[in-house]
Amino acid sequence: MTEKRNNFIRFLAYVRPYWPYILGGIIGGVIRFTVPLFVPQATRYLLDNVFLNEAMTASEKQSQTLWYLGGLIAIFIVVWAPGAFARQYLTTKAGQRAIFDLRGDLYYRILRMSTSFFERNKSGSIVSRVISDINLAQNLVGSALTNVWMDGAAIIVVLIFMFQISIPVTLVALATLPFYAYVFKRLRNEIRASTSRVQEETAIMAGNVQEKIAGSVVVHTFTQEKNEEQKFLQDSERLFSSTMRRAYFQSLNITISGGLTQIAPLIVMLFGGYQVIQGHMTVGDFVAVSLYLNPLYSPIKRFSDLNVVFANSMAALDRIFSIMDQKPDVRNRPNAVKLKQIIGTVVFDDVYFSYTNLPEGEQGPVLEAVNATAEPGQRVALVGPSGSGKSTFVSLIPRLYDVQAGAITIDGLDVRDIDLHSLRHNIGMVLQTPILFSGTALDNLLYGKPNATWKDVKEACKAANAYDFIKALPDGFDTEIGEGGIFLSGGQRQRLTIARAFLNNPRILILDEVTSALDAESEQLIQEALKKLMISRTTFIIAHRLSTIVNADNILVLDNGKIIEAGTHKELLRHDGLYRDLYSRQFASAQSASAVLRQPQVVI
Ligand code: ADP
Repeated sequence: MTEKRNNFIRFLAYVRPYWPYILGGIIGGVIRFTVPLFVPQATRYLLDNVFLNEAMTASEKQSQTLWYLGGLIAIFIVVWAPGAFARQYLTTKAGQRAIFDLRGDLYYRILRMSTSFFERNKSGSIVSRVISDINLAQNLVGSALTNVWMDGAAIIVVLIFMFQISIPVTLVALATLPFYAYVFKRLRNEIRASTSRVQEETAIMAGNVQEKIAGSVVVHTFTQEKNEEQKFLQDSERLFSSTMRRAYFQSLNITISGGLTQIAPLIVMLFGGYQVIQGHMTVGDFVAVSLYLNPLYSPIKRFSDLNVVFANSMAALDRIFSIMDQKPDVRNRPNAVKLKQIIGTVVFDDVYFSYTNLPEGEQGPVLEAVNATAEPGQRVALVGPSGSGKSTFVSLIPRLYDVQAGAITIDGLDVRDIDLHSLRHNIGMVLQTPILFSGTALDNLLYGKPNATWKDVKEACKAANAYDFIKALPDGFDTEIGEGGIFLSGGQRQRLTIARAFLNNPRILILDEVTSALDAESEQLIQEALKKLMISRTTFIIAHRLSTIVNADNILVLDNGKIIEAGTHKELLRHDGLYRDLYSRQFASAQSASAVLRQPQVVI
């Protein structure tokens, strides 16, 4: 409960800067709702003092009526209309501004979450929080925060008028109020819980849809359309059920509050009519009190609708703040050092690592007692069976994850003591699957260095063997490359990512299976590009094809998370170990291991 109250108070902090708009909205709202309250007073006056006044002549009655009604119309135009406009416009502005800030903060937090966060949460479900939860929260300002004041003021004014006309009738009119309070209380928690469920199911559905759309090629090639449709219908069914559960409570809320609103005038009519017959009230009083019932019960009914809005918005806020409260696993230490220029010595000192995003019991060590050193400018290759921990090893250098024991140092500094931004800025990663964004080729090249000069861009592209193909695109560097670079071939995408890495000029380079998914011609072009890219950078290379790493300064052979052999290509081939085994297996059909020893295949 306190946590929920805290979330509300935290949200108010977003609204607070825009209090002038809210105040304007409330004042507008009070005008909008109180001005019409003079209509029953005018009606009452006209009935009792004009129409039923035997002493007045017809023309006197006509001119009195005209004055009264003319005055009311003028008030509506001059006072009511600006009030109504201000109420709508200013409250929306306050709400949208607060939400603008909240959305910005949420996205800021999400962008800074660690890799494990994105592994735990599907991207579609994160998107659903940024968009649909935020929109729900907006209603809290748009209606809830301002309606409370407007409706509160309207109820007070109505009651003043009503009490002044007849105290007993007003008390009767209020007789149903305790029921309202009871219903509010009972239904609020149910609505909030079911809204949470609806939002949760929406996020799950969005996550699954996003994943399947992104992987539509696999869905098509495995002809899984029917199955996917079934799975979607199951998600949709769950969403339907939770939406209907919420609708049940909302309908109950609306029915009960609506019913009480309808019954109250009948009770008043009964009691008030009796008062008129007894001569305790005039006809004008009776009509005026009856006319006040709607302005009295509308805000009360809105209070009960507010119940729903409030419950829905709070459920959304709970989910938004639950993300914002998650601390990234990997974050800057208080006195993190900003690296200006690094030399490039990378040391793994007795490193242990296991993935914590897995369920308890499945979190076995992925790297154990790993020791390794890369001197500045050296090329260190990682070799080993699939799943032996090569990608994990390299992902620890830019701190995509933090080690559980031991340390990784760069130029003698523990990477956990280095400012994350400056650490990552000095490390370039080229992965097996090139990641590009929609936009032009140039946008993608400049992604890490928006202020690079045209000369630098050109040089980077030439070095990456990307210049000619980019120039040949329909609009050259300004060609839109599609989502994920879809309009380019695999080899072209990879050369673009290499050019992007060149432009950033990192001191440490990580190449993770860069050429494995490519044809021979693309591989040749990329190998040439990588050769240039690696010059004078400390480089870690993971390569499935061992022919690509024979020239490495040091080869680390990993098996089951441990380094079981290390040395140069020649040294490793002299031992009867895993490396020689892997190497000879790759070349078994063409050459024997000894022949390879005499004539090594040099690619780097
Ligand atoms: P390699 O690159 O040698 O193929 P990886 O470093 O990718 O090996 O994987 C090592 C082990 O860690 C494997 O058992 C793999 O299943 C597991 N693993 C890899 N990435 C993750 C992850 N993000 N979350 C959980 N487990 C992972």
